[in-house]
Amino acid sequence: MSTRYIEITVKTALNRVQSAAYPGMKWSLNPYRGCKHDCVYCYARYTHEFLEQDPTADFSRTVFVKRNLVQALRADLRRPSWKREKVCIGTATDPYQPIEGRYRLTRDALHVLRDQLTPASLVTKNTMALRDADIMASLARVAGFTLAMTIITLDEALARQLEPDAPTPMQRLRVVRELTQVGVPVSVAIAPILPGVTDREEQLRDLIQAAYDHGADVAFHQTFRMYAATRSHFFRYLAERQPHLVAAYRRAYASAQDAPAEYRLRLARRIERIRRELAPRRPPPVMLSPEPVQLSLGL
Ligand code: SF4
Repeated sequence: MSTRYIEITVKTALNRVQSAAYPGMKWSLNPYRGCKHDCVYCYARYTHEFLEQDPTADFSRTVFVKRNLVQALRADLRRPSWKREKVCIGTATDPYQPIEGRYRLTRDALHVLRDQLTPASLVTKNTMALRDADIMASLARVAGFTLAMTIITLDEALARQLEPDAPTPMQRLRVVRELTQVGVPVSVAIAPILPGVTDREEQLRDLIQAAYDHGADVAFHQTFRMYAATRSHFFRYLAERQPHLVAAYRRAYASAQDAPAEYRLRLARRIERIRRELAPRRPPPVMLSPEPVQLSLGL
């Protein structure tokens, strides 16, 4: 599927984040709008609605490039009111999707952040991150930097269904190892976890073990959040590839964008238990209650 790239100009590079769901996130930076990786679960599809684009079809087929991002970022960081709070890169697009190879906006933004001694974090699932290991390590030393590599499954076939244009999980793990070896603080993010698709004990165990084996910890996990703009795209995927789950998802996400609270709590406990079991020398997390035998959305 071909993608059209449209250059736009922006007044500011940084966006103020005021969400109770992300209390530690104050500023975000996204060099692009839309994302070529086209993950079926992508929560950021809604951002295309702001540009009067179809969040389903256009999100990966029409990608907007913030041509003057670096100049705008410099201006943002030179404001007297700037307090050098952490900037979170890639909250609504992958900053290393393929077009970054041509525009290098993410790389240049990292340079600006380093020069202005501004700490940052970055989320990606693309191996191109390795290209910028030098500036990431430098930023980490002078102001603070962390990279979270998103991996939700080790199953290559399943990953191809869910993230059709992203590098394979093994390619991402290799990048995790290489970044770690050159001094970039890197971890694995298991986000989102899809109920009934990627949440089984053995799936999570293998994934967390793989993260440890490649020199990383698990930074965070998040249960699938089904925003309105993601709904039709995701249900189309389920109908085609996982039809046995359609009814359960309709029930679980009938009145809310989040999976039921009880499910999320059990999942969090499961992950903490696996992390503790696989990394016995790390400080043990607090156990909230006995582990349930099986996670279920009523599937
Ligand atoms: S890589 Fe991230 S932003 Fe891009 S489609 Fe996937 S979930 Fe969305």
